[in-house]
Amino acid sequence: MKLSAFAHFAAFGMKTILFGRKDPIVGTIILTDKCNLHCKHCSVNNITAAVHPISQIRGEMKTLYSMGVRILFFCGGETFLWRDGEKTLRDLVGEAREMGFLIVNVVTNGTFPLDLPEADLILLSLDGDRARHNAIRGDTYDTILANIRQAPTDNICLYMAINQVNQDTIGAVCRTAMEEPNVRAVSFNFHTPYPDTRALALSREKKAACCAQITRMMEAGAPVFNLRSAFPHLIQNTFPTPCRQCVVMEDGRLSMIPWDYNLAFGTFQTADASAAVNDPGLCGECGYFFAAEYSLLFRGNVRVMADMLRTYLKYI
Ligand code: SF4
Repeated sequence: MKLSAFAHFAAFGMKTILFGRKDPIVGTIILTDKCNLHCKHCSVNNITAAVHPISQIRGEMKTLYSMGVRILFFCGGETFLWRDGEKTLRDLVGEAREMGFLIVNVVTNGTFPLDLPEADLILLSLDGDRARHNAIRGDTYDTILANIRQAPTDNICLYMAINQVNQDTIGAVCRTAMEEPNVRAVSFNFHTPYPDTRALALSREKKAACCAQITRMMEAGAPVFNLRSAFPHLIQNTFPTPCRQCVVMEDGRLSMIPWDYNLAFGTFQTADASAAVNDPGLCGECGYFFAAEYSLLFRGNVRVMADMLRTYLKYI
């Protein structure tokens, strides 16, 4: 991370903590909900299959930037399916950089070639060993591994959503992260139980067992891009929600994490983060590790601050 970016984030953190400000710093733009997969745990693929035009994405980038967002994620659906004429995902990442975003990350299912050296991190979903991953995501494991090996840069971060199906394969994903030279890190989430996928959610006891396993893998040298200090809060869902520093933009509509697709596809429309909406019920079961990490950080949790400093300087 550049020193200037570090200075910006440090100043933002100080202002947020000292003055209780609610401005966002992390923004996600949903480029499309079109996807080539139909994963078991997914509630959002192909609802509209709309691919949002570049003029709209540019407008959303400008809105987020003007709100103060400097860490940008492009999400889908499948982001590599995004196109507008000659423009591709790579062009969007370049434009985001030129606009001034300090960190630009892309989330993908990894089934397309991963030629995206301009991204800080490519967050690539790998949901277990071959058997469990394929049980959740269809027969894609070998394609994904081949794409990882052919990628031109080592900016890949594996991204595992832990649920009832794959909870025993945390070690396998960590080992893949350790063995594959193009993989820089691995990041976890717990399944957030949207109404149609509640059966996949983990109990607190199971979440505790998963965090213990992640901790063991960290101690064994796995490059885990999560904060151990946030684990107790993730197990008990005691972190402050919603995370007001993390916003999601889809088709001009703004919401907070955990993103509620019911609201996102409703009539809500605003460019004001303080008015962004979310489902309070879902907040109590939020499994997004980074939402917990950021909300604890910006409430002034000193352990999380130190942990984040160490972790982010290592992997970005
Ligand atoms: S790849 Fe992502 S968007 Fe597509 S079905 Fe799977 S989880 Fe949903």
